[in-house]
Amino acid sequence: MPPERYGAVVERIRAWTPSTRSLFLRPDAGARMPFHAGQFISLALPVGESPPLVRPYSLASDPEDALLEICVDLVPAGIGSRYLFSLAVGATLDLKGPFGSFMVDAPPAAAMVFVADGTGIAPVRAMVRRVLAHGGEHRVQVLHGAPTEADLLFHDELAAFGSHPRFSWEPVLAGAGAATGENPKLEALVLDRYVRADADRTRHFWICAVGDLVRRLREALRAAGYERRAVRYEQW
Ligand SMILES: Cc1cc2nc3c(=O)[nH]c(=O)nc-3n(C[C@H](O)[C@H](O)[C@H](O)COP(=O)(O)OP(=O)(O)OC[C@H]3O[C@@H](n4cnc5c(N)ncnc54)[C@H](O)[C@@H]3O)c2cc1C
Repeated sequence: MPPERYGAVVERIRAWTPSTRSLFLRPDAGARMPFHAGQFISLALPVGESPPLVRPYSLASDPEDALLEICVDLVPAGIGSRYLFSLAVGATLDLKGPFGSFMVDAPPAAAMVFVADGTGIAPVRAMVRRVLAHGGEHRVQVLHGAPTEADLLFHDELAAFGSHPRFSWEPVLAGAGAATGENPKLEALVLDRYVRADADRTRHFWICAVGDLVRRLREALRAAGYERRAVRYEQW
């Protein structure tokens, strides 16, 4: 699917917390952007001098949905995210997409572990919905990092998936005030459970978060013997 440009209107806004919100975008003229769950779009934001500021955002929505959902953090002193937070319903945006290879192209015949911190849950939510909808017998686990329970995006939906026999969702709370990308508990849990606890190296991983946590986990898992291609990641 080659990326294309679309105009879009902000049709709905959902505030998750004072500093995180979902924007639901409707592409112009009923256009539908084909994409794979887990991919991202880039927004061209009219901030400052031309050319526009380009910022990528992962899609949390299903490819079949009429609206594209992105979950945006308000980054301190971040000009792109501040601009997105200034938008009201009815605002227009220019986007291009889809991009990226962080996806579940064909679910592997192995346990799948998704590790997401903060808004890193956005592409994971889309992939997990896909994987569970398509059947299979292998376990699907989500480790979901956030400062507090109130910061867990898609909490109710992911908790409800818990009734699915092969799915588990586990919040890993770093504590109130923890900075984005700082979740030592999440890092320790991944290493304890998937490196130190057993010798099984057949699992497949998808890791998405802000900052160096992603690189550290990727390197640790690969060094522990997981295949390179079995450790997929997206670092913001
Ligand atoms: C493939 C990809 C997908 C992305 N998807 C999302 C998404 O779904 N939601 C989202 O909020 N951001 C996402 N980002 C980050 C986003 O593109 C911007 O970098 C972010 O909004 C900050 O832009 P800014 O202009 O406000 O701040 P800048 O002035 O560009 O500040 C960048 C700083 O903010 C940090 N940062 C980046 N993202 C975040 C974040 N989410 N929370 C806190 N700090 C951050 C960076 O590490 C960097 O230090 C994604 C990035 C990539 C590469």
